[in-house]
Amino acid sequence: MSGLEDLYREIILDHYRSPRNRGELATPPAHRAEGFNPLCGDEIVVYLAVDDELAGDDARVVDVKISGQGCSISQASASMMSAAIKGKTIREVRDITQAFKSMMSLHENELEGEDPAPEPMAAPDVELGDLEALRGVVKFPVRIKCATLSWNTLAQAVAEASQPAAS
Ligand code: ZN
Repeated sequence: MSGLEDLYREIILDHYRSPRNRGELATPPAHRAEGFNPLCGDEIVVYLAVDDELAGDDARVVDVKISGQGCSISQASASMMSAAIKGKTIREVRDITQAFKSMMSLHENELEGEDPAPEPMAAPDVELGDLEALRGVVKFPVRIKCATLSWNTLAQAVAEASQPAAS
């Protein structure tokens, strides 16, 4: 067990024990999406509040809350995700999501985002911070869905938030 793996495990446990941005937001105006991982029984609900004074990809995530339950990987990933995207624009959220997918060695179509980028898996130059701790999950393919569940769910919420108001 290397020192780095110990550090990563500590970060994951910290997010699992003290999840960031835990709770709910009123819908509307917040957008709500939920996701399940039947392989593990994980459940994630994402509440996304977007300041849409600036339209489209320039809209900013003003608040995000997470609820649900499941294994330490799924809950820690959701906590890290919420911390990583809060205050970011939709464009930045897409970049972080893509960088995370790239780290998890996923192909574009394995997470349901919108409009796949023309260049398949070019990792945007973004700081993943604590999310780096999930890098080791790639070695355990059965757990990858635990780590990506919250990101799948986020993609649903972002898609909903990006729809024209008059839908
Ligand atoms: Zn799980």
